[in-house]
Amino acid sequence: MGVEQIIEKIAGIRKAHPGNLMARHFDGDYFRGLDEADQQRLLRICATGIENPDSAMGAYAMNPGDYDDFSTQLEPMIRDFHGIPARVKIAQQHDWNVEGASCDLAAIDARLKDVSMRVRVARNASTFPLPGAMSKEQRVAFEDVAAAAFAKLIEDDAYGGQYLSITPGSPHEIDSAEYERRVASHQMFKDMSADRYLNVAGISGDWPYGRGMYVSADEDFLVWVGEEDHLRIMAMMNGGNLGALFNRLHKGLEVLSQLLPPFATSLVYGNVTSCPTNLGAGMRASLHMKLPNLTKGGTDLSRVTDAAKKLGLAVRGAGGEHSDAGSDGLVDVSPSARLGVTEMQIMQRLYDGAAALWALEVEG
Ligand code: ADP
Ligand code: MG
Repeated sequence: MGVEQIIEKIAGIRKAHPGNLMARHFDGDYFRGLDEADQQRLLRICATGIENPDSAMGAYAMNPGDYDDFSTQLEPMIRDFHGIPARVKIAQQHDWNVEGASCDLAAIDARLKDVSMRVRVARNASTFPLPGAMSKEQRVAFEDVAAAAFAKLIEDDAYGGQYLSITPGSPHEIDSAEYERRVASHQMFKDMSADRYLNVAGISGDWPYGRGMYVSADEDFLVWVGEEDHLRIMAMMNGGNLGALFNRLHKGLEVLSQLLPPFATSLVYGNVTSCPTNLGAGMRASLHMKLPNLTKGGTDLSRVTDAAKKLGLAVRGAGGEHSDAGSDGLVDVSPSARLGVTEMQIMQRLYDGAAALWALEVEG
């Protein structure tokens, strides 16, 4: 396809799919002005949003440097998603101190003690390309680096546990029944080769090579290897104490980062991730809330999605992104912004948002 045809095609997507942020911010003049090699690089980044016009973001970085090299295209998309106006400087600060913050979900309503809580951060090693541009050999080599770090973590009594791989022939390989069980329990990630957004971006390439998961002895600290980012590091717990959840992740992250190559970061964007939605804190903190009234028993997410949006929250189905609500209206709610907000602010947004959604649910 020639340059003008590409520009025309993306203009068509912009009209038909106003939610596609890649198309919304694509600037034909900027694209024309790039040399051919950079045009090819930018097209590779935008391919998922061109092939999947219904994308919400529509772009994935292939290398950490893409965010600086193509900031003309990517920065307006990033500002749009994270709600940072053009006049405000993008800056990522970190603050994990949850002392003094409202953390106890049971203080909103004793019934919220049962909700499942999850908080994850996305991290990438600066020594490898991002997953969309990795070769099979690099995926397996990165998994080896990660497995060596987990071997040290396992020796630490505060963690223990095991590393489980789905790489064929890995010494840590698990069978498909064990894999399915871990997916069903929300610990392990789904088969990425079924995801058309990840497929076009190359992120699901060479599936299932280089993929696996560390799980602590208590099953409350987990690390995914080889999903949308090199690493997704997370804490998962029941019981309503968001502070304990965040502290578990923060400590684990500090220990693990001593055992791994340096993470990819940007002076502007903080932690660098495949998807521009995850830049900055790289954090998604979520609650699995049962909202039967707000979701009409899980059949209609429009009301909860609208209410959540006003609170700065996004709603996903019970099986994660692109899934449906569970029975009893079980949904995943999480703050949308991850850039320009601290870890502690994300926790506070989740807490305040959960309180507001719960009030609507109880009202009926
Ligand atoms: P992310 O992109 O943040 O890693 P996904 O939407 O891909 O998350 O979901 C990954 C898995 O985590 C899914 O199985 C999802 O159901 C599960 N999950 C998300 N939030 C929670 C939660 N609060 N409690 C239990 N499981 C959760
Ligand atoms: Mg995901």
